[in-house]
Amino acid sequence: MARCIHCKANLSWFFIFKRLMIIKRPDFECPSCCHNLYFTSRSKKILFGMTMLIPALFVLAFMLGYMALFMVWVMGYILVLPWFVTVTDNDEPLF
Ligand SMILES: [Zn+2]
Repeated sequence: MARCIHCKANLSWFFIFKRLMIIKRPDFECPSCCHNLYFTSRSKKILFGMTMLIPALFVLAFMLGYMALFMVWVMGYILVLPWFVTVTDNDEPLF
């Protein structure tokens, strides 16, 4: 799980989830010390790659008739995503 690089506070799963799914901004504030934090370029690559994979899997699942499996996969993806995210104090480019 990601930790604030300033105060070492744990960023909760729900906090990261909210940032990823609802608030589409590259920067966010640490809930305990209010310093600006950014997702690392590695985290952004994971997000980007997974986001590209979903439409491809959707088409595949649709053609093969595995929609239920697809839904489970997407739910699982959304649930584990906050564990793969790490943060830094400067905005790194995606590539
Ligand atoms: Zn902090």
